[in-house]
Amino acid sequence: MRILVTGAGGFLGSHLCDRLLAAGHTVVGMDNFLTGRPGNLTHLEGNARFKVLRHDVSMFIDVAGPLDGILHFASPASPIDYLEHPIPTLKVGALGTHNSLGLAKAKGARFLLASTSEVYGDPLVHPQPESYWGNVNPVGPRGVYDEAKRFAEAMTMAYHRYHGLDTRIVRIFNTYGPRMRPKDGRVVSNFIVQALRGEPLTVYGDGSQTRSFCYVDDLIEGIMRLFERGSADPTNIGNPHEFTVRQLAERVLVLTGSKSKIVERPLPVDDPQVRQPDITHARKTLGWEPKVSLDEGLRRTIEYFREIVKDERVRQP
Ligand code: UDP
Repeated sequence: MRILVTGAGGFLGSHLCDRLLAAGHTVVGMDNFLTGRPGNLTHLEGNARFKVLRHDVSMFIDVAGPLDGILHFASPASPIDYLEHPIPTLKVGALGTHNSLGLAKAKGARFLLASTSEVYGDPLVHPQPESYWGNVNPVGPRGVYDEAKRFAEAMTMAYHRYHGLDTRIVRIFNTYGPRMRPKDGRVVSNFIVQALRGEPLTVYGDGSQTRSFCYVDDLIEGIMRLFERGSADPTNIGNPHEFTVRQLAERVLVLTGSKSKIVERPLPVDDPQVRQPDITHARKTLGWEPKVSLDEGLRRTIEYFREIVKDERVRQP
């Protein structure tokens, strides 16, 4: 298949390109590199089945030649990123999704939308099944991401129902692994980088809020299965093993062997208190469930960040 990945320079987009290429597909990667990084794709330079187009998908998208699939992953996705870029975040979720869907329709391509557990907001149902409609503050600071993704889901379903487009929606829960940016701002990368630098680990609030962390390889496997043999219904992909943020900080300290302290910082506005995917649907329809434990995934991620922190020391002795 010839497949377009929007947001190819991002953490998930780049892993997805690797996996699609490994499966024998030809891949066109698109990114405006607002939050994605060209460096995430340099290892693919010289691969005859891969090319990168620098383009903002919120503008009309022109791709020459046939396309069999479009995986729409373009969007700032870390809270600090979408707070810094609120309008591009709204535009890529709304206009970028519309343009990507229009392209899928024109090319007769299958379409997969990268949605998010943020569509559930600060959830009143726990764990979250796909049937839960969510508890989102539309006018809070996170609204720019949450509502853009909710709109994107509605638009995807409209193309499916009205135009008969072959569509998928994956609701991605907290994911971590190599190629996250050291300054990504998300909790796993923050804690690991802080621990490796010997800086305090910044727990927001009292650290009693929960998240359920999925290692990137597990997530990509789930998305591949959904793309290949899933249906149009939204599908949660994530690891249901739930931890408090403080527990995560403690595991990072143990696994890095760091002497860093844990400090408390103010809790961001509308920070969800709990989050855990109900993955019954993915288990049943895709035969998928995550395999990598938190400790194993953290070890692999720590290895990745150790090299980056070492390089920083070499550059700034
Ligand atoms: N968090 C934290 N310290 C940090 C970064 C994040 O305690 O340095 C908390 C944050 O308040 C949230 C959780 O960790 O409760 C996950 O945050 P993240 O930004 O990774 O993603 P979210 O799940 O909120 O989208």
